[in-house]
Amino acid sequence: MPGLPTKSSPASSVSSLSRALTLLHLGGVTRRSELTTRLGLTRTATGTVLRELEQLGLVVTRTDGRRGAGTGRPSHGVEISPGAPMVVAVQVGVETMLVAEAELGAVLGPVTEIALPDPPTPEALLGLVVDRVRVVLDRATRPCAGVGVALPAAVGSDGSALAAHNLYWPGAVPARTVLAGLLASLGHSRLPLTVGNDANLATLGESRHGAGRGAHNLLMLLTGQQGVGGGLVMEGRPYTGSAGVALEVGHIPVANDRLCHCGNAGCLEAEADPKALLEAVGGRGAGRTLTAAREVVAAAATDPAARAAVSKITDRLAGGLASLVNVLNPDRIVLGGLYADLLRASEMQLRAGLAYRSFLDHAAAVDLRPAALPHPALVGAAEVALQPLLDDPRRAAMTRPA
Ligand SMILES: [Zn+2]
Repeated sequence: MPGLPTKSSPASSVSSLSRALTLLHLGGVTRRSELTTRLGLTRTATGTVLRELEQLGLVVTRTDGRRGAGTGRPSHGVEISPGAPMVVAVQVGVETMLVAEAELGAVLGPVTEIALPDPPTPEALLGLVVDRVRVVLDRATRPCAGVGVALPAAVGSDGSALAAHNLYWPGAVPARTVLAGLLASLGHSRLPLTVGNDANLATLGESRHGAGRGAHNLLMLLTGQQGVGGGLVMEGRPYTGSAGVALEVGHIPVANDRLCHCGNAGCLEAEADPKALLEAVGGRGAGRTLTAAREVVAAAATDPAARAAVSKITDRLAGGLASLVNVLNPDRIVLGGLYADLLRASEMQLRAGLAYRSFLDHAAAVDLRPAALPHPALVGAAEVALQPLLDDPRRAAMTRPA
C-alpha cells in the first residue's frame, strides 16, 4: 500500500490490524489500554497497530487528560474514525426493500423503504436494487468498501437465489452475477458484492450486535412479511451447510393443516407465518401483512378470537422450536419479526410448549430472547459487506481515489 507502513515503524501483521479493527467494530473497547490487553500485545506493538489504522483513516485516537490506572501514563481513547469507509446494505423483503448506508461499529444511516416493482421479476427487482445503491453512492461523502444484499431466498454458494417462492421467481436466479454486471455497467466493477439469505444475515447481525452477543451456538427464527427463516451462528461463524442453503427452518413439519408451496403439508412457514395468523383470525387486518399481524398479537389481551389465533400459532412455533432444539442444542434462541411479538405476548405458553415437545429436559431452560435490532438482516448485510475490510484493513487504501 502506498506509504504504509513507514520505514520508522515496523509493519503490523494483517492479523493484528484485523483483530484490532474488529474489536473496535464490535464495541465495548474504547481505550487504548483495553485494546492492548485484549490483543495480548505490548503497548508499543499496539501503538504501531493504531498508527497504521489511523493512517488508513479507520480509527482516531485522542488523549483526554485522564491517567491510566496504576501507570500514571496519559490515557488514550480510541474509536472508529467518522471518515472511515462505509458500505451499502440492502434487505429485499416480499413487499418492500430497505436500503441504508452503514458504518463500522454497526451504525446504520437513515433507512429508506421502497416498494418492490410489480411484478417483482428478477430483472425489475435486481435493477431496482442497483438503482438504489447508485443513489446512496452518488450522495456518499465517504469511500465505499462494499455492498451487501439480503434476499428472501435460499442463496447458494455461487450467489444464486434458489426457490424464491415468495417472489414467484423461477428455480434459480444468478442474483450475484446479475447485480455485479449491473454495478459494473455503472463503473463500480471493483466494489466487493455479497449476497446472502436474509435470515442467515439477520442471525449474523444479532450475533454480533444484538440479542445474540455472547452466545456460543445461536439459533434465530424470524418471520417478517411472509415465510419463516432461520440461521445458526456457531462460535461466531454462520453455519451455511455444504451448498450454502442450510437452516431452511420454515419447512420443518409442525402440523398437517395447510399446504406449503414447497409441496409438503404442515410446514412451519405455512402454519405459523403472519399470513397464517391473519387467516386464523378470519382474514382481518388491513395494510401490510406484518403490521396487521402485529395488531392481532396486540389485540390478544382483550379479544378472544385474536387470543385463540395467537395461541394456535404460538403452539406451532413451539413445535418447530422443539424439533430444532432436539437437533441443534443451541444455548440461545433469538426470535425476530412477528415471533419477537409472540415471545413477548405468550412467553409462558411458548416455553411450556417447547418443554413439552422437546426430547431433553434442558430444552425448557434454553435462553429465549426477542431480537434486539430494528433491522437485523440489514445489519447482517452490512456485516458481510464490511467483512473484507475487517479481514484486511489495508483494503481501506483501495477504496480511496489514487
Ligand atoms: Zn414447506
